[in-house]
Amino acid sequence: MSGLLAVEGLSAGYGAVPVLHEIDLTVQPGEIVAVLGANGAGKTTLLRTVSGLLPATAGRVTIDGVDLRTVRPERMVRHGVAHVPEGRGVVTELTVDENLRLGGLWRRSKPADRDEIYELFPPLAERRHQPGHQLSGGERQMLALGRALIAKPRLLLLDEPSLGLAPKIIAQIMGLLRDLRDRTGLAVLLVEQNVRSALSIADVGVVLSLGRVAARDSAATLAADADLRHAYLGF
Ligand code: ATP
Repeated sequence: MSGLLAVEGLSAGYGAVPVLHEIDLTVQPGEIVAVLGANGAGKTTLLRTVSGLLPATAGRVTIDGVDLRTVRPERMVRHGVAHVPEGRGVVTELTVDENLRLGGLWRRSKPADRDEIYELFPPLAERRHQPGHQLSGGERQMLALGRALIAKPRLLLLDEPSLGLAPKIIAQIMGLLRDLRDRTGLAVLLVEQNVRSALSIADVGVVLSLGRVAARDSAATLAADADLRHAYLGF
């Protein structure tokens, strides 16, 4: 199996409790792959295992052929992988500018200018000297994304970017991801509860059910498959 990211036979869990069972998936350069499924299906666990925060019990994860088991989580970014966890991980005591500087620390190559990030997210530019705790939910999500993007990743692992945000802000963030993909060839593994938004920008959708891949198809086909939508995606 080849791809920028290749996940093969991946199993993982918490202690003795297995959660993921033999997951296979690939993400090609410039591809957005949406991971969908009900609460508890294992979507967050999949991202945490891919990024090495949770050890796999079987299988492997490679990026450009490099086995990520040999890479410590904080070094992932040197291999072009950036993880934006659910809850976003912004350091709320630090200013917007300081948070962006943090993102540049573990970079693969020369980081992007903070000004490039401010161009992508104009609301952040206005607040660059304000602490994270003064930001709205949408601004915090932008900052989390900006902090990941400043390291110029090839692959973004993105957990529930729409969580708690108003529809207008969700649409802005999804549009921005699509633009970035089109302009820079960024690849995205996108975990989302918001199935419609995710399928609107994804190329491929992978549906998890009870920790297994229940379906995998083009985003357009999944969005049009009423039986599948009813069975796994709740709409
Ligand atoms: P959600 O959208 O609700 O976050 P999800 O698809 O991301 O759902 P996971 O969070 O990966 O699902 O959870 C998968 C399973 O693993 C669930 O049964 C959950 O209870 C369990 N689980 C998640 N985190 C832990 C943990 N830290 N310790 C033990 N079990 C956990």
